[in-house]
Amino acid sequence: MKLTVLGCTGSLAAPGNPGSSYLINAEEGQPGILMDFGPGALAALQEVADPSDAHLVFSHLHADHCSDTASLIIWRRFHPTAPARRRHILAGPSYAAEHLGRLGSNGPDDIDDISDTFDIHTWTGQPLEIDAVTVTPFPVVHPAAESQALRIEHKESGKVIAFSGDSAYTPTLIDAARGADLFLCEAAWGPETTENTPAGMHMSGREAGRIAREAGVKKLVLVHIQPWSDKEATMHAAAEEFDGEIVIGDAKDVYEV
Ligand SMILES: [Zn+2]
Ligand SMILES: [Zn+2]
Repeated sequence: MKLTVLGCTGSLAAPGNPGSSYLINAEEGQPGILMDFGPGALAALQEVADPSDAHLVFSHLHADHCSDTASLIIWRRFHPTAPARRRHILAGPSYAAEHLGRLGSNGPDDIDDISDTFDIHTWTGQPLEIDAVTVTPFPVVHPAAESQALRIEHKESGKVIAFSGDSAYTPTLIDAARGADLFLCEAAWGPETTENTPAGMHMSGREAGRIAREAGVKKLVLVHIQPWSDKEATMHAAAEEFDGEIVIGDAKDVYEV
């Protein structure tokens, strides 16, 4: 599988790095799978793939993970020569259709019906098969309703990409990431401990490293680090817990697993 980072900064877009969004290509000739679609993701996607030919799965629906979806729907419907030629899967919380429909609405009482362009699927805890992969959601600890970590497993090779989404430390993340070849883990609290931060929201670099160690992942990519945070210090904090390979995620990174 190939994973392209469209954007991975935390809570908001940064110069040159859109909000949370990843493109997974599991099989030649099949649609890609977009994981989250935060601010700036559509511009980044235009540089690497056809925006009209991808499925879309969400960890959760905070704005930094989904706000470019309204623009993606405009592209899919109205591109003069390359609109979407089929409905692709869109998987997310039970309120995804309404929430994302409001992003593209014409007024306070309007909800854009996006079911013309996406086949909407609600996470129920069960694995979802999308072409060559199985996507399994794991409920995590975060203020956004129905937040998930996502585990993407290639059916034939067994290779695994895991994504924490946004979450405070929870043992569920160890299950989501167990043995993963690539683990995208948020470290929104940066190098700090979580002692002086709001409860039930995010993790520190140290906690991300602990999850990576407990899950036995092969490679840890630290993501969702705010533009104002010290990335190097965050990585050193993670390395105090995890002695495997650690990378600071960045836009345009490409990983093969
Ligand atoms: Zn976020
Ligand atoms: Zn969030």
